[in-house]
Amino acid sequence: MHNFSYARAADIDGALRLVAQPGAQFIAGGTNLLDLMKGGIAIPERLVDITQIAGLAQIHQLPAGAIRIGALASNSDTAKHSLIRERHPLLAQAIESGASAQLRNMATVGGNILQRTRCGYFYDTAFDECNKRNPGSGCAAIRGYNRNHAVLGASESCIATHPSDMCVALVALDAVVQLRTARGARAVPLADFQRLPGDAPQTDSLLAPGEIITAVDLPSDRWLKHSAYLKVRDRASYAFALVSVAAAIDIQDEVMQDARVVLGGVAHKPWQVPEAASLLRGRRADTNAFREVAEAAFQGAAPRKHNAFKIELGKRAVIRGLSLAASAGANLT
Ligand code: SF4
Repeated sequence: MHNFSYARAADIDGALRLVAQPGAQFIAGGTNLLDLMKGGIAIPERLVDITQIAGLAQIHQLPAGAIRIGALASNSDTAKHSLIRERHPLLAQAIESGASAQLRNMATVGGNILQRTRCGYFYDTAFDECNKRNPGSGCAAIRGYNRNHAVLGASESCIATHPSDMCVALVALDAVVQLRTARGARAVPLADFQRLPGDAPQTDSLLAPGEIITAVDLPSDRWLKHSAYLKVRDRASYAFALVSVAAAIDIQDEVMQDARVVLGGVAHKPWQVPEAASLLRGRRADTNAFREVAEAAFQGAAPRKHNAFKIELGKRAVIRGLSLAASAGANLT
């Protein structure tokens, strides 16, 4: 393994100073970064350990009512926190469907957002072609085995998918990423923060050099009563999604007023289905209405040799996910 130095930051300002050195990179739970380093895909000169920064693992309510999840909150602590379970059960469901209990104990919310694709060609340096690992080299997956790859929003440069379950729910919940650099703070909706591959698949997000995620805010709990996360995968645990659906419906007097549908496992980032709101508004929850959303979700899908099954699977998952959301929360007041 490539030699690197290690420094531990005591606070955010110190972390930003330490990471300013060329080749420096933050480490928190390390559940993805250490794999990347062992494989020779990430080669940092310095690791800046941010796990001891006070306050960054807190989950609390802001004065205006939003919930703030600190970037260092573990996936496990987030999923079992009373504020999340009571107000955002969709997020708790999504987190608990991901990885294993051991990984969820180590992985942080900030790290989950920044984790890299699990495309096998990205991790296998025996393959020269990977635009994400080596820009301009090509994409081995396009001509290779692409069963797990994207059917929506891909490009001729990269057809990888984002592996997170948590992020799919966060996008459905309008999560906003809080960021800091030495020059100041900014906030970016998660739906915009993660990016499609285009002709620069080496860049996964809008994270600027030297920038740190400090928290994720959930602005509203209007999706509390009728939401569901459905994950379809090859085995019942410790597997990435072939397709997943975060579905949430605002139902008043048995009539749908608004809806969110976000897909995982099908694109380079959580894939929003904006047509869901207009297709469902003013209607009663039923399979026919949900089928229209499913058709809209996969319009424009572009399958590769081995992943066309994701389109039919995804449509059925959308219908099932919306049905689960509609019937969820019957015992909530
Ligand atoms: Fe690399 Fe993306 Fe192609 Fe996978 S799909 S080989 S990550 S360029």
